[in-house]
Amino acid sequence: MVLDTATLRIAFGLMALVLAFLFYFSAYRVTRSPYSGWWCLALLFFLTGSACFLLDGTRHQVWANPAGNVLLVHGGVAVWAGARSLRTVPPPMWAFTGIPLVTLVASVLDSPATNTWSGGPVFLAAMSLTIGLAARELWRLEPGYSRVRIPMAAAAGGLSFFYFLRWAAFVLEGQDGPVFATVFGSAVTTLVTMVLLVVVSFSMAALSSEQQTRALRMVASRDDLTGLLNRKAFLNLASEQLADRSITRGSGALILADLDHFKAVNDTYGHAAGDLALQAFAEACTATVRSTDLVGRYGGEEFVLLIPGASGERAETIAEEISGRLAGTTAVGGMEMPTASYGISTYEGGTKDLEGLIASADAALYAAKSLGRNRTARSDWMS
Ligand code: GH3
Ligand code: MG
Ligand code: MG
Repeated sequence: MVLDTATLRIAFGLMALVLAFLFYFSAYRVTRSPYSGWWCLALLFFLTGSACFLLDGTRHQVWANPAGNVLLVHGGVAVWAGARSLRTVPPPMWAFTGIPLVTLVASVLDSPATNTWSGGPVFLAAMSLTIGLAARELWRLEPGYSRVRIPMAAAAGGLSFFYFLRWAAFVLEGQDGPVFATVFGSAVTTLVTMVLLVVVSFSMAALSSEQQTRALRMVASRDDLTGLLNRKAFLNLASEQLADRSITRGSGALILADLDHFKAVNDTYGHAAGDLALQAFAEACTATVRSTDLVGRYGGEEFVLLIPGASGERAETIAEEISGRLAGTTAVGGMEMPTASYGISTYEGGTKDLEGLIASADAALYAAKSLGRNRTARSDWMS
């Protein structure tokens, strides 16, 4: 049976077109997930790229053949970009410009008017590379992401390997070699790609809705003004951490911070300036602690930090550092940055009593305020 490449390409093109429509209207328009957006773009590249090859053998081949190669490689880059978007990492610029440019140059220099495989080895290598990078990206997603990441990574990895074998066959025996022509030729490739596109489309909806859910969860757990965890998210995450004895053998410190005479800041400089001070304090906190420590806005001008592994002394040092950073912040409009008071409570051997921990820190904070503000008090001094 001889598979007719032109017919297959038309079937592939139709399928890609229908999928691009479906992806656009059912996934991208609804979820706005970057992943589905990249896939719409990838499909359009695959569609137009393979359409270009239909002009092989006509007088248009001279531009259509290199254009087809470049468009298909762009499709590969878009698939990679989509996979990266799941980690919210943008694609590097060189991928969009460099890889297609090299493909174009190789193709143009390889008699595209007469050679239907102009720039073949570079094109095949570029496809293997970009789709292989996508597979690696999908594979590296955190396991909790979604179960579909495994079939997706396997599909992309398989396709990348297929292109690698095509590249090897092409380099070893040329485009007219028996293996390349029968096993790795355009007909088989088009079929393989069609099957894989079905796998991808199937997993697609799951991945893009997962991406949207994550984005929403992220927004729902953050405080608008400071970008810190909001109270609810802090309490949830802190309870999880406290219960987990594997984290620093279940010891650590909780710091409750409250800006001093903050009402006066608002009254003197205005509410907007007060907001800036809150943001500056939030930045001072995140700049001082590790990225794995939890920092939340507990209420108006009250903040809360959970520092696993920290002793009472260490927590005091952290509080001092935060105050130092805040004092060093250059304020606009002659505003003087407020000072802050801190209450510290510590825990050991794991605890489930987050409420108790916060209550102790709050009592210590009250003591720090009574002692004249701009200072730190520890709950273990008070009993
Ligand atoms: P103390 O030293 O005893 O803590 O005095 P304080 O003035 O800081 O305490 P108080 O609780 O009386 O005032 C807190 C102020 O924080 C009152 C409120 O208007 C202000 N505040 C709360 N949330 C925000 C906010 O989002 N933006 C601004 N600008 N001000 C806020
Ligand atoms: Mg206050
Ligand atoms: Mg307060």
